[in-house]
Amino acid sequence: MTVGVYPGSFDPVTLGHLDIIKRSSKIVDRLIIGVLNNSAKKPVFTAEERVHMLELVIKDIPNAAVETFDGLTVEFAKSLGATVMFRGLRAVTDFEYEIQIAQTNHALNPDIDTVFLTTSVKYSYLSSSIVKEVASYEGDISKFVPGEILPFVTGKIKSLRSVDNGNGQKQ
Ligand code: ADP
Repeated sequence: MTVGVYPGSFDPVTLGHLDIIKRSSKIVDRLIIGVLNNSAKKPVFTAEERVHMLELVIKDIPNAAVETFDGLTVEFAKSLGATVMFRGLRAVTDFEYEIQIAQTNHALNPDIDTVFLTTSVKYSYLSSSIVKEVASYEGDISKFVPGEILPFVTGKIKSLRSVDNGNGQKQ
């Protein structure tokens, strides 16, 4: 049985991520989506919230599951018996960073290979940061995130905005 890992921050999961999830779930027998629990990255959504959103959007993908991890991604992959790690590539700018990470991971554990899936063109501009930026200005993010999580994402960003307004400071 081939196990693959798709690691990331997913802060929050976007339609671009979901596209990669669907495609990679067809390549391996079992796909684990690894939610990086790293407070240094200062995510807007807690790890539990990010897992909850991912679980909602993968409910129709029977061979996919979600787990959190911290520390080295290769160690997380190894603990799951995974041999493949998936990453998405949007533009050349992603490539420079991603190749460095992939080569480092290969040096750390040559038994685990990184497989890059190129983004579907319609999602090539999409990132979690763009979603948060647009939502913070009350823009329509329905073309960016799966419908199942839309109310949750807009609700959370709205609640942060009202906290901002309350004390005049940005979060
Ligand atoms: P990280 O913090 O590890 O970059 P992200 O949640 O931002 O985590 O992204 C996880 C993975 O998904 C990365 O490989 C990233 O390149 C990929 N990805 C993000 N957005 C898209 C998109 N719109 N299309 C394809 N891949 C994407």
